[in-house]
Amino acid sequence: MIHTDFLIIGSGIAGMTLAVKLAEYFPTKKVILVTKAGESNTRFAQGGVAAVLDQIQDSYQKHIEDTLRAGDGLCDLDVVKHVVEQGPVRIKELLDWGTQFDRGPEQQLLLSREGGHTALRIVHHKDSTGKEIERVLRLRVQNLANIQVLEDCYAFDLKLTATIKPTKQTITGAHILDQNTREATFIYAQTTTLATGGIGQLYTHTTNPSIATGDGIAMALRANAKLKSMEFIQFHPTVFYEKNAGTSFLISEAVRGYGAYLKNSKGHRFVLDYDPRGELASRDIVSRAIYLELSHSKEKCVYLDCTHLKKEEFKNHFPNIYQTCLNRGVDISKNWIPVIPAVHYLCGGIVVDAYGKSTIGNLFACGECSYTGLHGANRLASNSLLEALVYAHSIFEYHKRSFSKEIVFDSIDPPAIKSYTVVEESNQIKEKLDELQTLMSENAGIVRSTEQLIQARVKLKTLSKALQTSIPKTFINTGLCEYRNMLAVAQMIIEHSIARKENVGGYYNSQL
Ligand SMILES: Cc1cc2nc3c(=O)[nH]c(=O)nc-3n(C[C@H](O)[C@H](O)[C@H](O)COP(=O)(O)OP(=O)(O)OC[C@H]3O[C@@H](n4cnc5c(N)ncnc54)[C@H](O)[C@@H]3O)c2cc1C
Repeated sequence: MIHTDFLIIGSGIAGMTLAVKLAEYFPTKKVILVTKAGESNTRFAQGGVAAVLDQIQDSYQKHIEDTLRAGDGLCDLDVVKHVVEQGPVRIKELLDWGTQFDRGPEQQLLLSREGGHTALRIVHHKDSTGKEIERVLRLRVQNLANIQVLEDCYAFDLKLTATIKPTKQTITGAHILDQNTREATFIYAQTTTLATGGIGQLYTHTTNPSIATGDGIAMALRANAKLKSMEFIQFHPTVFYEKNAGTSFLISEAVRGYGAYLKNSKGHRFVLDYDPRGELASRDIVSRAIYLELSHSKEKCVYLDCTHLKKEEFKNHFPNIYQTCLNRGVDISKNWIPVIPAVHYLCGGIVVDAYGKSTIGNLFACGECSYTGLHGANRLASNSLLEALVYAHSIFEYHKRSFSKEIVFDSIDPPAIKSYTVVEESNQIKEKLDELQTLMSENAGIVRSTEQLIQARVKLKTLSKALQTSIPKTFINTGLCEYRNMLAVAQMIIEHSIARKENVGGYYNSQL
């Protein structure tokens, strides 16, 4: 068994930023960063980070208003103000740590604009901003001796204990499965932070990589933490269409901002039939327009036409997109890019306060798995990397002020690690997962209906029951635990959707 002061589960922007801050401030304390095999959402982020860096053309007030407009009345105003006002200082920190954001001839930071923003305010590194931020954070993590990174280690449950004075339910650590040795262990921690990212893998088509299985959210749910706004799932309108399900390659909104047209197979710019802003309408409107277009045409995808744009300039702006399309047989100067909408971002999650504290003792959450109140009913583009940076800092500030070794590990019953049996991965679970993804895509997608949601509720109950009766809870492996977690998260998405009685932000029920 392992002991640590700080346990952080997840090594995307949220987890690594927090780890670096804690390790630098508390050089004698131990930070353990656990990360399962696979890539983070952070690595995939293309567009950039929103922050008010031009105080003449832009202002905090404008960024606040844009965020509130996207959130459609459901944002928490204090949170929005706090996050927006922290933007410049968090960007400066990333620059101080060595992040190479794109600069102009006078070395000024180049700012771009994305859908919903009324000013140029997105700092970026070409079209692979997340990869650059991750590079810098990873280097910093590697250089801090008091951070221990447990790679390829899967956190499969939290331990909830009532041992603290004054007595309260408190998280005292997490159960971990080493994905290489297939051994389970337990990490005792004075504090635990979930930074496990999103839930895209619950759906057939998603921009999220394979790690996005909602593990942190499901673990928090089992520990009785409060969740909120799970019905608000943002779909990105344009991912590269491929027949097979899985992680889809994102064609950034910036490409439409740059002048690309969305067309149906007949060459008609159909989005103009739905909204006068056409390709630059908000993500939910463009996604819904594509959904309706495809429902009528019965075709598999629509197209992004970039053939009228200057090839060399496009290549310079979007080198990653240009090359990936080319690798898939699409030369953007000659061919249209086949695209469909896909699940992109979860606006809801584990409820946290201004310091990233969940509703359960000693459990913090940060990044995409958390619900802070920033996004309301829809996320403004490029606000999520900013949110992760700001809340990693808030959790750090909390520990800076009040960290104490509250938990006496010896007083806790040893967790029953031995009673877990690590079993072989099975194809049966993969088939079940396909079934779950199809169910969620068909019944809880861009356009939902109460009827479909109720059908999904019944089906999910059946799937859960079947799993419980066929495989004991103490049997574990990564695929099995992820499937259990995805079933639990799917149930929350369905229940929160059924409870939502108005169409707002990114949520649309055709029967309301
Ligand atoms: C294609 C794409 C483009 C995007 N572009 C932008 C953009 O331009 N601007 C913007 O603001 N946002 C963007 N986003 C959203 C943004 O990237 C994410 O919201 C953000 O990176 C989430 O960071 P995170 O640290 O919370 O989670 P992640 O970066 O997803 O990291 C999660 C970590 O948790 C680990 N993990 C998960 N479960 C477990 C477990 N059970 N045990 C151990 N480890 C676990 C994973 O291995 C991973 O290390 C984009 C997202 C995608 C997918």
